[in-house]
Amino acid sequence: MNAKEDIKSLSREELVSRFAALGQPAYRADQVLQWIYEKQADSFDQMSNLSAALRGKLTASFDLNAVHALKTRNATDTTEKFLFQLRDHSLIETVLIPATPGLTSSSDRHTVCVSTQVGCAFACKFCASGLEGVKRNLTAAEIVDQVLQIQKLSGEKVSNIVVMGMGEPLANYNNLLRALKIINAPWGVGIGARKITVSTVGLVPRIKQLADEPMQIRLAVSLHGATDEVREKIMPVNRKFPLKELLAACDYYANTRKRMMTFEYILIDGVNDSLEQAHKLGAIAKRLHAKVNLIPYNPVEGLPWKRPDRDRCKMFQHTLQSHDVTSTLRMEKGTDINAACGQLRLQTERS
Ligand code: SF4
Repeated sequence: MNAKEDIKSLSREELVSRFAALGQPAYRADQVLQWIYEKQADSFDQMSNLSAALRGKLTASFDLNAVHALKTRNATDTTEKFLFQLRDHSLIETVLIPATPGLTSSSDRHTVCVSTQVGCAFACKFCASGLEGVKRNLTAAEIVDQVLQIQKLSGEKVSNIVVMGMGEPLANYNNLLRALKIINAPWGVGIGARKITVSTVGLVPRIKQLADEPMQIRLAVSLHGATDEVREKIMPVNRKFPLKELLAACDYYANTRKRMMTFEYILIDGVNDSLEQAHKLGAIAKRLHAKVNLIPYNPVEGLPWKRPDRDRCKMFQHTLQSHDVTSTLRMEKGTDINAACGQLRLQTERS
């Protein structure tokens, strides 16, 4: 049992109040925040403008690092994958993606894809992360620290966040929002809310809740099927929240936020890549003014599905274009490092 508090889970306001309880003025809390988020300190001992006594108190009261890098793997396209160990020895994955079509457009952007849970309960049929169920939610500090550690290890300033790694982000709603506020804050990581995208399998009540948050986060919904029949084959969550309910929540989001949302659609050979699905998806996206990211399926060891050939993917995209829908056909990054979410972790755990 860890009696210390994770300092990277705290807002500035909370830290100031903890410091007041230690008899310290607010500016000391600001100095510590600067050490953590600007100077990337690894220990309280490095905080040289604090007294040794205060550094000792901080070490006794707070944990500074929440994740620890075990492995990194480079793909030839410079996508970099990180395997992090948590204090309870659980493993999570985080990916650094320089300029991904569909997510970002310019090469000076560095996007980090963060995880929000250890494992996942939603068991989407194309995904390695759902193979062994969910173990627990990540804390806010564990979410924030993925970004900080990657900035430190890569030497790159992270410009965009996509919350699309292991786990269903909206199933860990409170910790996610707490983390995103720290990632967004000028005293924190300082990444603009419009550069943060949260992806969901479609948890209807949480989509509505997110629409009512003051933060202008972008929403990406994993659709992967344009009818209940097809979507259910791929995403068991569709039984709980069928398309009609999901699309009503998307309507609410689009009308409340007045922002373009994105549908993610993994193209799987013979499963959801028919032109009939493309026409139905086109009609849905057109009505919601949504953009579509098409992602050719990345084969997962132990799962039967295949990636459609390039022409088939292009045909699907042309059909969407005939509905006046903006779409990208994403060249999958990192296939040579088993980048499909959850694979590096599963392989490491099993070995
Ligand atoms: S795709 Fe996301 S929500 Fe679905 S099983 Fe994988 S991690 Fe969970």
